[in-house]
Order: sequence, then structure tokens, then C-alpha cells
Amino acid sequence: MRVWRPIVAACCGLGIAGAALAAATFDYGLKAKEIAEGVHLFEGRMEHFTRENGGNIVNTGYLETSAGAVVIDTGPSRRYGEQMRAAIEKQTGKGIAQVFVTHAHPDHFLGDQAFASDTLSALPATRAAIQTGGDDLAANLYRMVGGWMEGTEAVAPAHDAKPGPIVIGGRALRLLALAGHTGADLAVYDEKTRTLFAGDLVFFQRAPTTPNADIGQWLSALDQLEKIDFAVLVPGHGPVVKDKTAIAQTRAYLRWLRTALQGAARQGLDPTEAMQIQVPAEFAKLAVLQEEFQRSVVHLYPAMELETLKKAPH
Ligand SMILES: [Zn+2]
Repeated sequence: MRVWRPIVAACCGLGIAGAALAAATFDYGLKAKEIAEGVHLFEGRMEHFTRENGGNIVNTGYLETSAGAVVIDTGPSRRYGEQMRAAIEKQTGKGIAQVFVTHAHPDHFLGDQAFASDTLSALPATRAAIQTGGDDLAANLYRMVGGWMEGTEAVAPAHDAKPGPIVIGGRALRLLALAGHTGADLAVYDEKTRTLFAGDLVFFQRAPTTPNADIGQWLSALDQLEKIDFAVLVPGHGPVVKDKTAIAQTRAYLRWLRTALQGAARQGLDPTEAMQIQVPAEFAKLAVLQEEFQRSVVHLYPAMELETLKKAPH
């Protein structure tokens, strides 16, 4: 059996003392990195939610335009959103023109509160999911990361993000309405730099999360993303890449996950037994692998067991 080793805060250069200090002051220490001309990334840690990282495990970013910044995702808390907005305004000397929320997972939208409501948009199903389930997601994250979440409330974007081309402040973007990681996943493509913000449809060097996944749809979405002529890809979690390796890695993991769990269901394994399945060596280096795999069994296995039962001869 694989021995799971926790990833400690020291991995990211903060050290335990530094991490404790950050937690005490609730300072996310957000520093954007320019990954293409006028395209900036706030890179999250490759960890689970903890009281040390305050939920900063997610990639967010912004694009400069003459009308102000176009923000992609708002992070896990009101404080993150506020610190992100302040960092952007300081760096650009301009305000926020538009905010796109890629999907209804708490680490991607709970910073919405920090932004003017008329700037926020998302796909219709994402808006609906935040409206109905956002408060529960916020309460759950509060339990995991504590005080960082103080004052955070779920805010559903007021406007629909419409798929297709859109020009904001002279910057030409293309919005893609996809699904599979959740019921609605927005990807944002910048024509000038050929940068693709893939949201959580793509993970890199970190095991994908599946609480609302439809793996078949997700694999189709990856096929769509692969057809895009991008030069830079920003995954929802993990390092930026300049080729298709992150798409290929996400696809390979999802295919293996589906096949492994279907096989387990056919063998009649119970969920606890399915959790003991050996993950192939090619995925051994993915961050938070064992926890995400076990969570995926919880999320996906009951439906697979049901399907196997339906197919079984009576
Ligand atoms: Zn997600």
C-alpha cells in the first residue's frame, strides 16, 4: 500500500513559522506573475485546504485592458478577493472591468464579494449553482480553513457569460462554455497572447477533484480544449504549461479513474475496497493524490455500482 506523506507548508518556502504568521494576519501574500504580455497569474499552492493556506490552493489571474482588468476567478474567501483586487489595482493603476467566474467551486468564487456586483459574470448554470449551494460551500470551507473566511458570503454573479468572442477594453477574448468538471465550466481564451485559462477542466501535477464530475463530458471538454491553438495554458490548479501535457495528464487520469472504478464495481468491491486500488506509477507524483482518489471513490462509485447492477443479467 502506498504511504501517504503530507505536504508541509515548508514546501513553499514559507516555513512553519512563516505559515503561522500568515495565518495570524490572514495575509495571502498574493503576488502576480506575468505569464504572457498583459496576462498575470496568482498561483495557488499544490495542497488541500488548511488553516495555514487559508484556501489559497487555486490559480486565479487577470488580463490588462484599456478599460481595466479582466479577472478570472476570485479565490476562496472575501479576504482573498479583497487582497487580489488591491494587488491588481496597485499593479495596473486601473479598476476592474469584468470578472469571469469559471465554475461553482468555493475556491474559485468565494472572493466575489470583493468585486462590484455589476462586473461579475458566469455561465447560467454556475450562477444557479452558487445561488442554491453557495452558502453551504462557504460554511464547509469555513470549517476547513477557519478565520481566513471571516465575513465571507456566497455571491452569485449577476450576469450571464455568453460563449463566443468578446472585446473588453480593446482586448479580444473568446469564452467557451463547456462542462464535465462541474455542470458548467467556463474557459477564457486571450487572442493576443494565445493564453487559455482552462479553469478546473485541466489540472497539472495535482490530482483532479471530482465532487460534481461527469467524466464522459469532461473528456469531451478536454477534446475541445485540445483543438485550441494556445501558446500558454493556465490550469485551475498546478503550474502553467506551454504545451498539451496538462490536458494529456488530466485525460489519462480521468480515463484510468473511470476504468478502475468500473472494474471494481464489476468485481463487486465495496467502496472501502475500491479505495485500496493501486494508483498507477505514472500518477504517483501528482499532489494530494491519495486523498483525491479516495474522495473520487466517494463521489463516483455509487453511480458506477448502480450501473453495473443495471447491466447484470437477472
Ligand atoms: Zn473545481
